Amino acid sequence: MRARDTRTLLLGLLPCCLAWAASAADHLVVVRDGSTHAVEIDQRHSYAATSLTELAEALGYERVGAGLRMDGELVRFATGTAFFTAAGEVYQLTNPVYSSGSELMVPLSWSLDWLPTRRSRSWRYMDGRLVKRQPTVQRPAPRTDWMVVIDAGHGGVDPGTIGVGGTKEKDITLAIARRLTKRLEREAGISVVMTRDQDTLIALTDRPRVIQRRGAEGQAGLFVSIHANSMPKKPHATRGHEVYFLSHAKTEQARRVAMRENSALRFEQQGDSSNSEPLQFILSDLQSTGNLQESSLFASSVSRNLATQLSTPDLGVKQGPFAVLVGSTVPAVLVEVGYLSNRAEEKQLRSASHQANIADALADAIVEYLAEYGRRVWSYPRSAGG
Ligand SMILES: [Zn+2]
Repeated sequence: MRARDTRTLLLGLLPCCLAWAASAADHLVVVRDGSTHAVEIDQRHSYAATSLTELAEALGYERVGAGLRMDGELVRFATGTAFFTAAGEVYQLTNPVYSSGSELMVPLSWSLDWLPTRRSRSWRYMDGRLVKRQPTVQRPAPRTDWMVVIDAGHGGVDPGTIGVGGTKEKDITLAIARRLTKRLEREAGISVVMTRDQDTLIALTDRPRVIQRRGAEGQAGLFVSIHANSMPKKPHATRGHEVYFLSHAKTEQARRVAMRENSALRFEQQGDSSNSEPLQFILSDLQSTGNLQESSLFASSVSRNLATQLSTPDLGVKQGPFAVLVGSTVPAVLVEVGYLSNRAEEKQLRSASHQANIADALADAIVEYLAEYGRRVWSYPRSAGG
């Protein structure tokens, strides 16, 4: 059956439930494993609802009594109440479940709000459709002691760039870093460390050292620094996300971004932003290490995941002399999640759903890269004897 999609625009602008009420859509569209399912919406009450049986069929879950079995966990509803349980936890909808004949009717907010928020690894709400996500790639096996350092750019006296509407980069980076940390903590075999989890300033060159300080001897991992971009003149039409790894800048634009991000050095008491010589020295030393190649592979993974999971323009993988990446002993990237100098993108970057999508894409990239990297590391000869 072809999807009915007339409400797509409305849904992009309004919270889900309002949009449904306003658009009087008659079907919930579910996209799963390449096929589209339409679930009829009951509009007879003051709020929209769908039958549990049809919903189960569309989502591909087994209906069990007054509930669903979702990937091994049980979701239970009950007629006449807005409360339901999932994996033993109690949740509340805004409206109660009701019965219609022999059918149990579940408020639409469960499908549009609860499912994509609470089960974001399985479901995503995009362009007016509920979309099943591809199962996450292989676990980062066989190693199980990965440490991922999440670096929220700027902080404290250093606000980072300031958006057209006054948004501070440091707040956006911290919000995304927190979401990413929560998301990664659910992955087996990965431990997460944040360079900062509040509004404080950490010296740029201290940030990668977290892995040496906190990590076990020889522990492998990744370093991800999160930033938001800006054009010198605002407002500006440029939007999109880009991913950097440490090297000499190849373009004028990359050099400008690196200069702006490195300017945080001026907030550090012993920093010396006027002198880039040490940085150049370290860079020339870096060229010979395999870390550079791994960082560029990791950057590609991050860029690919952002491109497929975000609707904002993909500006690709670039390289630049970022002070925060110098001194990292593990593959390291700096992500510019979007432009605060663009009015629309600034607004988007402030929204919880966009922040969650960015965090999801970054988490998927990290898991994907570690799975791949783990195989490579493990495939090395165990002894150098041969
Ligand atoms: Zn920044």
